[in-house]
Amino acid sequence: MSDKLTIMAFSSTLVIDDSRSILDYFNIILEGMGVLNVFTALNGKKALEILDHEDDIELILCDINMPEMDGIEVLRHLSERNYQGKIILISGEHQRVLDSTVRLAEAYALNIIGALKKPITIKQLHELLARTNNRSRNSKNTALYKFSIDDLKDALDRNEFTIYIQPKINLHNQKIGGAEALARWQHPELGLIGADAFIPFLEAHQLVYRLTDVLLDQAMTITSEICRNNPDFKLSFNVSVDCLNRLNLPDLLLARCIELGVRPSNFIFELTESRLVKDFKKTLEIMTRMRLKGFGLSIDDFGTGYSSMEHLQNFPFDELKIDKTFVTGASISESSKAIIESSVILAKKLDMQVVAEGVESYEDWQLVSEMGCDIIQGYMVARPMPVRDFIDYLNNKKYQTDLKSRLLTIKPQGTG
Ligand code: C2E
Ligand code: CA
Ligand code: CA
Repeated sequence: MSDKLTIMAFSSTLVIDDSRSILDYFNIILEGMGVLNVFTALNGKKALEILDHEDDIELILCDINMPEMDGIEVLRHLSERNYQGKIILISGEHQRVLDSTVRLAEAYALNIIGALKKPITIKQLHELLARTNNRSRNSKNTALYKFSIDDLKDALDRNEFTIYIQPKINLHNQKIGGAEALARWQHPELGLIGADAFIPFLEAHQLVYRLTDVLLDQAMTITSEICRNNPDFKLSFNVSVDCLNRLNLPDLLLARCIELGVRPSNFIFELTESRLVKDFKKTLEIMTRMRLKGFGLSIDDFGTGYSSMEHLQNFPFDELKIDKTFVTGASISESSKAIIESSVILAKKLDMQVVAEGVESYEDWQLVSEMGCDIIQGYMVARPMPVRDFIDYLNNKKYQTDLKSRLLTIKPQGTG
């Protein structure tokens, strides 16, 4: 891991490309740079539909050569809409085609910041964004920021980290049964920064325990507030395995539950399998005692690590969370369907609840529901939101009518 953390100053981006693998690739890169909302579109028409609803997209990455509506036509539409955000072209075309496209965009008075030649590398994207930097940290227009570990320590000292909450829907009764707490960095100048940008960096510098201490206490306090009206509510919290090194952790957590008047079963700790191995005996002891005291344990990102089966056998998980890479778009991928199906069978045999994360469309909702998942989480239901918004959302029950009408109005593809 580099000794600098690179963060992008755009909170919403849209990537338009007719290749699903390029969209997935950008999704991973942009999320990893802290971009909170990465929208993707397989064609120009879909992109314009997204722009109809999302008016805060600050950066568009657009392929030039696409069937039906090509990138040049997309630029014309953007100009007609007077799109003010930044644009990066993605292209496998000849340099002269690219140059003319850039000139055309300039003639349209669009804010083109450059082009990426396929095959695209992260380095290329970094260089392009770095070139557009105007060196002023106060300007929202600056594209790329570099932070050192001391900057992150300062941010921890200044209490700039907070949690956002994303609802989880129980598919058996279509109600919110719980939610996941997700870390956010509320940067004083850049605004909100996503977890993927700073968590791996904090982990690499053995500092993630400091974040966990702060956020877990926020999360437990919020849960006690929510449980007053919703006693069976479960809050999921992500824990890096580095934080499972205090043998008295189960006792500390239980004591805090008693203090707050909540039950251990109101909490689920989500652990990522690839981080589970360092000190086997200690981890096993802590996790087993957590279960004994009634806390839930979830194996997160299931399917993406190296020894899922071994961890499933060794550790006392009661929930399996299928990673979003298999869930998003599963309705059009045979291999994803097979992975979901076998994960569900496995989990049921082990008497575990199954959560599908990353449900973005009606089709995926339908599919994971038919395949026997118990709980879903994803943009189709709601994006992660500030704590107060979540409590309102939960208490006024508006989400129920919201969801119902959405499920009724969104027709699956192919039904007209
Ligand atoms: P995760 O545990 O797999 O969390 C789910 C991620 O998927 C979240 O990203 C969430 O915002 C995003 N997501 C939810 N629904 C959808 C969807 O429908 N489509 C797409 N494309 N994404 C969706 P986020 O908040 O950026 O968190 C990224 C990762 O950072 C988390 O992945 C988790 O591994 C880690 N993380 C987050 N908060 C904490 C924390 O407090 N402590 C630790 N140790 N890790 C955390
Ligand atoms: Ca998680
Ligand atoms: Ca995941």
